[in-house]
Amino acid sequence: MKALVLREMCSLNQCPTPLELVDLPVPHPQAGEILIRVAACGICHTELDEIEGRTSPPQFPVVPGHEVVGYVEQLGAGVTVHQLGDRVGVGWIHSSSGDEHENVSPQFQATGRDVNGGYAEYMTAPANYAYPIPDCFRSAEAAPLLCAGAIGYRAVRLTGIQDGQTLGLTGFGGSAHLVLQMVRHQFPNTRVFVFARHPEVQQFALELGAAWAGHTEDRAPEPLDAIIDTTPAWKPVVEGLANLAPGGRLVINAIRKEESDKEALLKLSYHEHLWMEREIKTVANITQFDIREFLPLAAEIPIRPEVATYSLDQANQALVELKQGRIKGAKVLVMEK
Ligand SMILES: [Zn+2]
Repeated sequence: MKALVLREMCSLNQCPTPLELVDLPVPHPQAGEILIRVAACGICHTELDEIEGRTSPPQFPVVPGHEVVGYVEQLGAGVTVHQLGDRVGVGWIHSSSGDEHENVSPQFQATGRDVNGGYAEYMTAPANYAYPIPDCFRSAEAAPLLCAGAIGYRAVRLTGIQDGQTLGLTGFGGSAHLVLQMVRHQFPNTRVFVFARHPEVQQFALELGAAWAGHTEDRAPEPLDAIIDTTPAWKPVVEGLANLAPGGRLVINAIRKEESDKEALLKLSYHEHLWMEREIKTVANITQFDIREFLPLAAEIPIRPEVATYSLDQANQALVELKQGRIKGAKVLVMEK
């Protein structure tokens, strides 16, 4: 099968082609696993963190990719929860302890980092960590729901907001554009304020129903009850705290932060940014329950992921574009002809 592998860590600025297209044997499903013929795999910012070593794979080479949609091709021994030909999705959680805290368990194994993922024509996954994909989504549309969407869903829950409270989104990429659609459905009286660097991204947010869109350094027209930060940088954290209402909560939805603008933290003022019972909370990984709850909700809304599709041999180009940050919606690798 065709697959993209990462052989070593490198900086994308110095090595713009970190992934190599190779031929690998089709993997064999073990007991409790399924073999999936991959139709589409979303490209997540976490791939940049893996390539550049901020969350490095334990061994190389590894096939990245954890927003996987495909068809069940083979059942391992004992699998009864799926049928051959079913369309299923796999997210960042490959396997873990199975309880509600499995996202922070030491047993947590990540798809496409700790085990091979979906930047390939086939992959295996535990049957219990593959989820039915609602029929209303094309495979390429469904792919970003598996990580960007489902982790966004977790992030919204962790903000604790109630209908009518104000929500800020700092960064407006693959996850936030899904969160905006979700929040407008779940909390119809909540106004959403979007902070993004590029004017075309701000415009995209307004088109999707944001009440206001501005630059990362702008002040929102009113204090925000909660903010979700999906950027890889520190400055939006400090700026976000300045926009937070007393008692408000900033939820950081990023697996790693980059080091390049860390000096922005020196601007942190206890009085301006933290006092008045403001809180900071992080989102770590995801549970199977987040994904199982989110997919039917996404179909009910229905969320419309904005996707740009690429073939396997265009993956490096897509990663470089993601690094440059000019993104409208989500990028997805498509394997189906
Ligand atoms: Zn992801």
